[in-house]
Amino acid sequence: MSARLTILASGSSGNCAYLETDSTRLLIDAGLSARQIRQRLLGIGRTPENLSGILITHEHSDHVQGLGVLAARLQIPIFCNRLTKEAIELQFKSRFEFRLFSTGASFEIDEVLVDTFSVPHDAYDPVGFLIRTSAGNIGFLTDLGHATKLVIERVRASHVLVLEANHDVKMLQDDTRRPWSTKQRILSRHGHLSNDAAAQVAEQIVSAELRHLYLGHLSSDCNRPELAQRVVSESLGRMGATHVCVEATSPDVPCETLRL
Ligand SMILES: [Zn+2]
Ligand SMILES: [Zn+2]
Repeated sequence: MSARLTILASGSSGNCAYLETDSTRLLIDAGLSARQIRQRLLGIGRTPENLSGILITHEHSDHVQGLGVLAARLQIPIFCNRLTKEAIELQFKSRFEFRLFSTGASFEIDEVLVDTFSVPHDAYDPVGFLIRTSAGNIGFLTDLGHATKLVIERVRASHVLVLEANHDVKMLQDDTRRPWSTKQRILSRHGHLSNDAAAQVAEQIVSAELRHLYLGHLSSDCNRPELAQRVVSESLGRMGATHVCVEATSPDVPCETLRL
């Protein structure tokens, strides 16, 4: 059994990843326009028509904006918790096919097992995922203000992890375009993880099994891919964890497909 993961986009403007095993094809978040999602799937020889489902972390538009057209028209099941469902229904007029889970519960989609866990972020009931396939486990940990003990425990079994590295704290503080209140929100315990915070999470979860670490949700104004990558790589390097491939994601260009 094999699994293939493609980060189609990650960043403040849109988040969407595609995971497929021999029998299951999933999107994790749908935060691009439906047209963009279709184009990026076509770029890897796939189409939205045969998706098994879409997992949603939370209702912010950079995670759900493609649902209106994509999920409603094609009747693709949306997997989310109840509060996220209600928030999605407020944003869209469309009729969706929801499959609800309780935060903290695990459920199966075909041969894939999905663990869900709560993350601290300013949404109704935001979650992270650990998706278990027979080829390996993929963790999704973006949009969180800080990493709780629970979060660290739940993604520790990852072979591949998508981890938020949103901003460089100094670049954010020096940014003249963002009002103070926005900066406070981003920096708060329910905002977004900085590069340094991501490095600390990486240090805590790294194991011999962790192979690939994607840095996600990079701010386009208050971060740079090479900076985020250096901060996290150096901190793993200091621990001797040089076996982990650290890769920054982009909102504009999909990452190369990773085979597990
Ligand atoms: Zn987001
Ligand atoms: Zn968010």
